[in-house]
Amino acid sequence: MLNDGREIPQLGFGVYQIEPDETASAVRRALEVGYRHVDTAEMYGNEAGVGQGVRDAGLDRADVWITSKLNNGFHEPDDARRAIDDSLAALGTDYLDLFLIHWPLPTRYGGDFVSTWRVLEEARADGRLRSIGVSNFQPHHLQRLLDETTVVPAVNQVEVHPYFTNDEVRRAGAQHQIAVEAWSPIAQGAVLGDPVITEIAQRYGKSPAQVVLRWHVERGDIVFPKSTTPARIEENFALFDFELSGEDVVAIGALDKGEEGRTGPNPDTFDYVPG
Ligand code: NAD
Repeated sequence: MLNDGREIPQLGFGVYQIEPDETASAVRRALEVGYRHVDTAEMYGNEAGVGQGVRDAGLDRADVWITSKLNNGFHEPDDARRAIDDSLAALGTDYLDLFLIHWPLPTRYGGDFVSTWRVLEEARADGRLRSIGVSNFQPHHLQRLLDETTVVPAVNQVEVHPYFTNDEVRRAGAQHQIAVEAWSPIAQGAVLGDPVITEIAQRYGKSPAQVVLRWHVERGDIVFPKSTTPARIEENFALFDFELSGEDVVAIGALDKGEEGRTGPNPDTFDYVPG
């Protein structure tokens, strides 16, 4: 349960780097397997495919949790207001379950993500956004929102996997019941050949991906692995018929390499804005 009282499915389907014209069929496939949560973003260019996939699966809008995120180019309040409406239109829906500021961009817009956040608060108040949160926020970014605004983010979506456990950010959020959404939960495959993980996988008779995803689930994080391969979409959803021992959870967490394990950009310096 999120800090705003809403229930989010802990396991979802991520669509980063899925081509726009392949997205509807991948999302439909995932929904047929049983996923009820899809994580997209304006910058992925595939929101329309996500909306189409949900309709193709024949599910009611209310049965699927849809998250999207603000384009880095639209942090100015008027742009952010328009971007929320554009995401809704692209997805073909009149509300989003969760909407995030995708990156804090502290070196852009005079470092002002606070006025951007106030736009998300507005859209939450008028019902276009049901839950609001942030992504790639470091503890000091979170602290600014806590100090200067009203609504506490429901989630912080950050890079987390066995090589980068990102514990400082987890701790900062936990004090305010801000849930961690772990992006690149299997480090885009980079952790799957690790001997510690393959040994554990063998012992449980599970795949390395299942072991790593189960590790996230047991730590309480929200995850949405991405795949377009039907067998992997199924494999990544089959996480609830086994449990890792406490010892194995600790052994996987001990693979953390700190900053060196980060595969994505550092949020304190990342300043990409689409051209
Ligand atoms: P991921 O860790 O989910 O890895 C996906 C890749 O791993 C696939 O492309 C495939 O090559 C491989 N894979 C998937 N399942 C497998 C399996 N069972 N066995 C072997 N290989 C497998 O990486 P991701 O897509 O970067 O992250 C997941 C989601 O997180 C994204 O789709 C997106 O929704 C979100 N995300 C958010 C941000 C952000 O800045 N907020 C950044 C990156 C990703």
